[in-house]
Amino acid sequence: MRILLRFTLAAVFGAICLSTACAAAAAPPARITVLYDAFGSDPAMAKDWGYAALIEIDGKRILFDTGDDAAVLAKNAKARHVDLGKLDFVVLSHRHSDHVSGLSYVLRVNPHVRVYAPKENFGMFGSDLPAKFYRKDESLPANMRYYDGAPPETMKFGTVFPGANIELIDKTTEVAPGITLIALVSDATGTKELKELSLAVRTPEGLVLVVGCSHPGIEPIVAEAVRIDPHVHVIAGGLHLVAAQDAAIEKVVGALHDTYKVDFVAPGHCTGEPTFAALQKVFGDRYLYAGLGTTLGLGANPRVASNRGSTARDWAGYRALLARSDE
Ligand SMILES: [Zn+2]
Ligand SMILES: [Zn+2]
Repeated sequence: MRILLRFTLAAVFGAICLSTACAAAAAPPARITVLYDAFGSDPAMAKDWGYAALIEIDGKRILFDTGDDAAVLAKNAKARHVDLGKLDFVVLSHRHSDHVSGLSYVLRVNPHVRVYAPKENFGMFGSDLPAKFYRKDESLPANMRYYDGAPPETMKFGTVFPGANIELIDKTTEVAPGITLIALVSDATGTKELKELSLAVRTPEGLVLVVGCSHPGIEPIVAEAVRIDPHVHVIAGGLHLVAAQDAAIEKVVGALHDTYKVDFVAPGHCTGEPTFAALQKVFGDRYLYAGLGTTLGLGANPRVASNRGSTARDWAGYRALLARSDE
């Protein structure tokens, strides 16, 4: 009888464990690990200008950007025991090499992984255009006409990553339940018409927003994000205020803190040293250090799971790399 009861209880708990509650309990905690940046203090990792982060959320493993150098990404992933052969997908935020170049390593260990990239005309990720985009002149002889005067309906343009499973994103798209790629275009001098993808993930605590360089501006990106969920829980990544003056920095920091009431910020990459300082001052203990090698839990109380801290030496290295960067 006791054995029967034990079997019955086991069967009942087995059935409960198949339910979503148990599945959720079994899912690893949401977290982000910075795999590429120019500041940090893990001696096993190489600091370099660029950005890459592994986001583990909702049972998915997402590589957001790939850094500037395939060998550095390989070294840093190994140092953090991150298997880039196991990914649900990769997001390339934008065409700048400090976010894209590491993809060649990812494709070596994971050749068929889905890669989301912004759709740009004649971009490095490949593209296509209807042949009717160009004007025709039927008075010309065939050998002076494109395609002898008989172009394909759609003209296809190659990618610098032939064979990669690249899916181009033209406009803001929910690519998996609760996981949205925000697509915006920069209007800033130097990056006009550059399209950039940002990653927004719905969580019970609010939106987790990961940005590459924020060339379209972090405020327009957040404005688009709050259409998905007005409660922004965490913003991680580059805010591109690396050369901004104090007034511009204060405006952005004020908007994030006062207008959008963002819970936590975990800035990195091109956010800029004065902006790190300004964000830290305003957000206090809701400023999350996110240097190279940091793993941040993204739950109700995000905290550094593996805080390797920052040192004066890190900042000196960051400045040296910044001086060499054209970003
Ligand atoms: Zn960048
Ligand atoms: Zn950039």
